[in-house]
Amino acid sequence: MQTQLADFIRDTAEGREAEEILRKCVHCGFCTATCPTYQVLGDDLDSPRGRIYLMKRALEGASVSGKTRLHLDRCLTCRACETTCPSGVRYGRLVDIGRAVVEERAPRNARDRMKRAMLAFSLPRTALFTAALRLGTLLRPVLPAPLRKKIPPRAERAGHWPAPRHARKMLVLAGCVQPALAPAINAAAARVLDRFGVSLLEASGTGCCGALRFHLNYQDAGRDDMRALIDAWWPMVERGEIEAIVMTASGCGVTVKEYAPLLANDERYRDRALRISSLAKDLCEVVPLDAIPAGAAGARVAFQSPCTLQHGQQIRGMVEARLARAGFELSPVRDGHLCCGSAGTYSLLHPQIAGELRSRKLDTLQEGMPDCIATANIGCLSHLRQAARVPVRHWIELLDEALRRKMPS
Ligand code: SF4
Ligand code: SF4
Repeated sequence: MQTQLADFIRDTAEGREAEEILRKCVHCGFCTATCPTYQVLGDDLDSPRGRIYLMKRALEGASVSGKTRLHLDRCLTCRACETTCPSGVRYGRLVDIGRAVVEERAPRNARDRMKRAMLAFSLPRTALFTAALRLGTLLRPVLPAPLRKKIPPRAERAGHWPAPRHARKMLVLAGCVQPALAPAINAAAARVLDRFGVSLLEASGTGCCGALRFHLNYQDAGRDDMRALIDAWWPMVERGEIEAIVMTASGCGVTVKEYAPLLANDERYRDRALRISSLAKDLCEVVPLDAIPAGAAGARVAFQSPCTLQHGQQIRGMVEARLARAGFELSPVRDGHLCCGSAGTYSLLHPQIAGELRSRKLDTLQEGMPDCIATANIGCLSHLRQAARVPVRHWIELLDEALRRKMPS
């Protein structure tokens, strides 16, 4: 596609990157077939092709309005379009650049700004979020139904975390909302890896990976979170004490894997970001398949592969293989490439579209009559369990329970 970027962006790093991406798009529209928002809304401007057109116009200096911003806001950043695109268009990166430009040129109203500022302030602060969640749990019985559904009925316990005893060590990201919503996930990961000869460690003083604020379009603040996390991990990385940095939430994993390009223009952090990204692994990449004892037929599980795992990290089939090896029966899932509607803060900002996508996703997950749904991302887990008929768990908790029966530690 021919582009003629406007003066305000042409000679910037973002402008050059956007131009290179735009030129790859041949406007064929293959991506519309797998775009969840196009399927729900049926408007070409809510498809990847339409949004690319809107961003091209904005970057070329055409006037933009709140309507342009709304079409970009409605994008889930699920990146299903990247998986489908035959031309290798890096839509996810383009929409980061496009959103920053459009928001600057068509500012939000005060109410919208306030809502987003509150989310950007509260969610990445684990202590604040934990306190708010505890209060929410106490008040749950008297809260209005839509809010009540978002809050788990009782606080979850983390469970035993094995003391470090192995020469092989890996770091794990604690995350921001996960320690409050589902502390059992990282503890289960620590127990599983401990059985396979790896001690899992959480570095103190770590917080959000940066995804939350970055995708709310507080991109500078998001990059600050990334730098803070790099600083917290760096001493152990520099001393060569750890062989990988493990993410139990695929939404964080895709972000940490992309620290290198996201901090490429930061001279102070560029090299460290590259090193951190090279060490970043999703949990399924470090749980050795062959070491899992083959199991007899167990519970029937429907695996919801998060977009950040299958599209963002391009990892497919690895979790399913590990569950199947442990003896779980995987029920088939139709349209597994489509987003469940969670998408970070999307479900809070666009509840109707998110709710429709969740209903469709749960229909496809539950039509194979599973005993439970497994996922690999805290956002999807929290979103799906608000309306699922069966329990929704992180896959590592299922594997941990299966191993406990077969491999007492
Ligand atoms: S993003 Fe890819 S699939 Fe979509 S219109 Fe452009 S070239 Fe075609
Ligand atoms: S990222 Fe997802 S929602 Fe956004 S345009 Fe691509 S397929 Fe559609």
